[in-house]
Amino acid sequence: MAEETVIKSDLQFVKRLQEYGGESLKKCFQCATCSVVCNISPDDSPYPRKEMIMAQWGLKDQIYKDPDIWLCHYCGDCTAYCPRGANPGEVIGAMRQATIEHYSTPSFLARLVSQPKFLPLLIAFPVLLILAIMKLVGTLGNIPAGKVVYSNMLPLLVIDAIFLSAAGFAVFVFLNGIRTYWKDLNSGVSPWKAKLSNKSVVSTLIEVLKEFIVHKHFKKCVTHYARATSHLMLVLGFISLATVTAWSAYYEWASRFGLIPHKESPFSLTEPIKWLALVGTVLLLSGIYLIYRERQNKANSASFGGYFDWLLIWVIIAVGFTGALSWLLRLANLASLAYPMYFLHLVSVFFLFFYAPYTKMAHMVYRTTALVFTKMQGRELA
Ligand code: SF4
Ligand code: SF4
Repeated sequence: MAEETVIKSDLQFVKRLQEYGGESLKKCFQCATCSVVCNISPDDSPYPRKEMIMAQWGLKDQIYKDPDIWLCHYCGDCTAYCPRGANPGEVIGAMRQATIEHYSTPSFLARLVSQPKFLPLLIAFPVLLILAIMKLVGTLGNIPAGKVVYSNMLPLLVIDAIFLSAAGFAVFVFLNGIRTYWKDLNSGVSPWKAKLSNKSVVSTLIEVLKEFIVHKHFKKCVTHYARATSHLMLVLGFISLATVTAWSAYYEWASRFGLIPHKESPFSLTEPIKWLALVGTVLLLSGIYLIYRERQNKANSASFGGYFDWLLIWVIIAVGFTGALSWLLRLANLASLAYPMYFLHLVSVFFLFFYAPYTKMAHMVYRTTALVFTKMQGRELA
C-alpha cells in the first residue's frame, strides 16, 4: 500500500508571505511560464512554480528547507512574464524574508526589523548607545575646539570596542542560524544521495565564491540585466571599504605593539589606504544609486521590492552619504556640521552591522550556504 503523506498547511504563514510582498500569490494558476523563463533555474526540478504551490498552501517547513528560494537571484524575469500578475519574484523574496526570520535569534529582533513601525525604536538603540558612551568617556558636549579630529569625539579604542561588539554579535547570530539551516537542509537528503557527493565544504565554498565575485548567474537576467552590474559595484564597494577598515586597524594595533612606526590618523591623502577608501565609497554610492534608479524605472514591470528590500537600500545610502560627507566636512574643518555628520555615520554603520542577521544583508550568508549545499548535492544552476 502507498505511504500516506500528511500536508500541514499554515494559513497564518500565507498571510505573512502576503504582508511581506507576496500579496498576489493566490493569483497563480500553475502555468509554469515562470519556471520556463527563469534563465538560472536548473532543468531538474525547476523553480519558482513549485515554490508558488508551497506558498499558496502555506507549507512553511518545506519553504524553510528549500534551498531553491536562495538560488533565485531576484532578477524579476518571471514576474515580467507571469500571465496572471502573480509576481513570483516577489513571492520568493517574501519566502526568503520569512526564512531569515525563522533562522535568526532572538526572533523578536527579526520581527522588529520586518515592520516599519518599529524603525524609530531600532534607530534609537545605536543613537542612545553612542550618546551614553560619549557621556561615559566625557566627550558629550565637550569636544575640543579647533581642527576637526574625529577621535576627539570617540577615541579609536572605544570605536573598535563598539563596532567589534556589534560585528561579533552579528557573526554569532549568523553562525547559529547557519548551523540550524545546514542541519535542516541535510534532513531532507536521502542517504544514497548524500553518498554521491564527494566534494568538501571548503572546496565547494571556494567555487561558489568565485562564481559570486563575477556574478556568473546574475548576469543571465534579462529584464533587469543592469541590476547585476549595479549589484557587483555595490559588492566591490563593500569589499574595498572592509579592506580599508582592516588596513587601518592593522596600522592602529601594529603601531601600538611597536611592529610598525606610528601613523597619525586621519591619514594623508597621498596614502594608498585613502585612495582605496575613495574608490570604495564611489563604487558603493554609484552601485546603490543605480539600484535605486533601476527599481524606480521598472517599478511597473517587475520586482520593485517591499519594505525589507528598501530598508537595506536606505541604510546603505545612509552609510555611504554620511561617510562621504563626514570626510568632506572634516577637510573643510566645519566642526559644527562635521561632528553631527560623523555621529550619524556611526549610527548608520552600527545599524548595518548589528541588524545584519535580520535584514536583507543576511541573504549573502543564506544564499552562499544554499549554493554550497546544492553544489555538493550535484545540483547546478543553469
Ligand atoms: S507564478 Fe505566474 S507564471 Fe508562474 S506558474 Fe503561477 S501563474 Fe504561471
Ligand atoms: S526572480 Fe529571476 S532568478 Fe528568481 S525565479 Fe524569477 S526569473 Fe528566476
